[in-house]
Order: sequence, then C-alpha cells, then structure tokens
Amino acid sequence: MNNPTDFDYFNTLLVQNVGSRVGAIAPTITPSAAYGYENAEEAEGIFAAQVNKPLYARVGNPTNAKLEAIVAKMEGGFGAIATSSGMGAISMVCSAFLSAGDELLCIGGFFGGTYSLVNETLARFGISNTFCTVDDFEHIEATLQRGIKMVLFESVGNPSLTLPDIQRIIDLCNKYETLVMIDNTATPLLVRPLEMGADISVHSSTKNMSGHSAALGGIAVFRAVKEEGDKLLNPKYADVHKIVKKMGEKAFIPICKKRAIRDFGMTANAFGSFMTMIGLETLSLRVERINKSVETVAALLDEKLPDGVSVNHPSLVSSPDHARYKSDFAQGCGPLLTLDCGTKERAFTLLNKLNLVIQTANIGDNRTLALHMTSTIYSDFDEETRKFLGVHEGLIRVSIGLEDPKAIAEDFLQAANAL
Ligand code: PLP
Repeated sequence: MNNPTDFDYFNTLLVQNVGSRVGAIAPTITPSAAYGYENAEEAEGIFAAQVNKPLYARVGNPTNAKLEAIVAKMEGGFGAIATSSGMGAISMVCSAFLSAGDELLCIGGFFGGTYSLVNETLARFGISNTFCTVDDFEHIEATLQRGIKMVLFESVGNPSLTLPDIQRIIDLCNKYETLVMIDNTATPLLVRPLEMGADISVHSSTKNMSGHSAALGGIAVFRAVKEEGDKLLNPKYADVHKIVKKMGEKAFIPICKKRAIRDFGMTANAFGSFMTMIGLETLSLRVERINKSVETVAALLDEKLPDGVSVNHPSLVSSPDHARYKSDFAQGCGPLLTLDCGTKERAFTLLNKLNLVIQTANIGDNRTLALHMTSTIYSDFDEETRKFLGVHEGLIRVSIGLEDPKAIAEDFLQAANAL
C-alpha cells in the first residue's frame, strides 16, 4: 500500500540534497562531452566499470549523476538514469529489456506518445503488445501466465484520469516474476512505486519535477537487484543474466546503459539536469498546493458550469474512480482534470475565450495549461483507439498550476458562460 506523503519530509530532503553545504551551493553544470583519463590503466578501469569516473557524456555526466542520486533517494530506489525526455526514459527501459518476439502488456489509459511508441514503433521492431483496462484482472493474469517480460502502466491515465489499483497490479507482476514499469509522471511524491514493490518508476521530468517548462527531460528509477531469487534471474531474462551476475544489486543501471543508452543515445544533457534540480527544490511545495487546488477548481466547476459543459476529476462523487481516489489517492492524483464540451467546435470556442489559462501541449507546469485532445496529440488516432484511451471530440485536458484556484475556476467559468 502507498504510505501517505509527508510533504515536509520531502521539502527538507530535496532542498538539502540539491544544494551543497560547502563551496558553490547550487549544483555545478559540467557541460564537457569528453573526460581526460589519468593514464591508460585508468581508461581501462573506467570502461570496465571498476573506476567510478566519467567515461563520455553519452553514457554519463556528473550533473546528471547528481540529479540521478537525488531522484533515486526521493523514490526510495537504488539508482536512476536521467534521459533526454520522458519518452527517452520509457524507450530506454523497453529497448534494454525487450527483443523481437517479446510481448508488452499495457494497462489502462495512456499518454499518446507512449501509445504510439508501443503500438507503432516497438511493433516495427517485432515487440508485440496487448492492452487492457485497469480492472481487467482476468486479462492481466492470463497475459502474465504466458510468461511475458514486461508490464507498463501510468499511475494515473493521461488524459483519461483512470486510477489503477497499483498495489494489486504490482503484486501480480511479482507473483509471475515479470518486470513492472510505472509511469509516475503525474504523481511524483504522491505515488512511490518502488516502495510498493515495482521494479522501475519512470517520469517525464519535463512536467511536475521541473515545473517551469524550461527543461525537457526524463528519468528512470530502479530498485536494487536481490542477491538471491531476483525475478531478473528467471530464465525468461537469460539475455541479461551475464550482467546481473557480474554487477549484482546495481545491475539495472548497466543493463540500461549497455543495451540502450550506449547505442541509442537518449542521454540527458547537463544543463537540462541542472534545471530539473532547480525545479526539484520546490517540488514538494508545488505538489501539495497544486493537488489541493485541483480539487478546489474541480468542485467549483462542478457546481457552477452551465449545462453542456462538465468537469471530470476523481475527487468528484460523479467520477467512476471516486472510491479508488478516496482509498488510494487521498492526497491527490496529480495536476490534471478534464472538461467535456460535447463537440470540438464548442471546445475550441471555450479555449479561445480563456484569459489566464495557456493553450499548450505540456502538463505539470507552474501555470495552468489546457489543450483540446482530438485535434492535437490524438489527431491521428482512430476512433476505437481514442475510445480506449478515453479521448472524445469535446475533451479538453487541463493541468492546474500555482495560480489562485478561484481565479483559475473563474477563467473557465467566464469562457463556458460565453458559449
Ligand atoms: N508520460 C506521460 C504521462 C506524459 O504526460 C508525457 C508527456 O509528454 C510523457 C510520458 C513523455 O514525456 P516527454 O514529453 O518528456 O518525452
């Protein structure tokens, strides 16, 4: 079960870990792409991972390393790898562990980019997939019984806002010794997948973690590999056994570095990692405030929106996910809520009347953002896929920011009243 979040604990942890006590207080940016070695022996040691010094920026950078250490601590993980974007983090994990002939189980609603990665790109490389809704445990268990290698789901469906029973899915994956990766982008601090028994937690740090829409980035956080009986030692993961046996508890990192980062190069850059750390200092403050504001805005809109426009958020009793919100997401499920305007034309009219809210494709920003779904991210998705992902013609996705929640609600209300 996910333990309640102690925001003050994270306020202290994050500012104290991002800043240094001696010398430069802010993190240092090391932009160098290459690093000189003391001598040939040291070069050999670095390449053999026996000497812990930078090798070449495609496989690691001291600024990224600092960010990775902080996020690993924040998520209760053993280690992390910062990537060029959230999609980079998901692609890194998939390409490190899956090969042609493998199958990926995807549970629940998905961000459009992840859906395309799985359904188009990984499929082109011979990795098949099966999708199911969050509570289709019959499908989940039957698929796990086939001996698949990986399960992927979002802690909160974006933009469907479906809430999975995270603990139950993780427990099933552990029962069948199957890797489970959770996209925790919407719920940093609120959901801590690794503490719940997941193997990998990934984030688009572009979103809540950074908060400023100033740095594109991603990060994957890993648990430690167990000395005995680790699921990675199951015969289905035979192709990584050599690395697991050599690297022990830290094996997830070299598996991803050797089998994805080194060859595909989805590496984070130092300046982006610096900006993400600056964002992390205030993450806990922002998450606590924004999650309260989402509830306030949802309640005000639910009460005051005119007929023909409705609001969806799991904190509302009208939501099909309300019971799970109360039991599993009591401190919030991230910055998103959605509006249903009925048609694309009405959604466009509402969006174009907004004064405070910014129209853009990002989420988890300090500012409130909104976007019509079927004409943008989901424009080339067929009707059946859109239905599965909970995306329909009149849908506007809203990501609540730090502004006064009453001012945010008033902006949507004046726009809706002018329809
Ligand atoms: N996962 C989720 C839930 C997202 O909302 C996004 C958004 O873009 C991504 C992954 C991809 O992240 P990025 O844009 O940093 O590649």
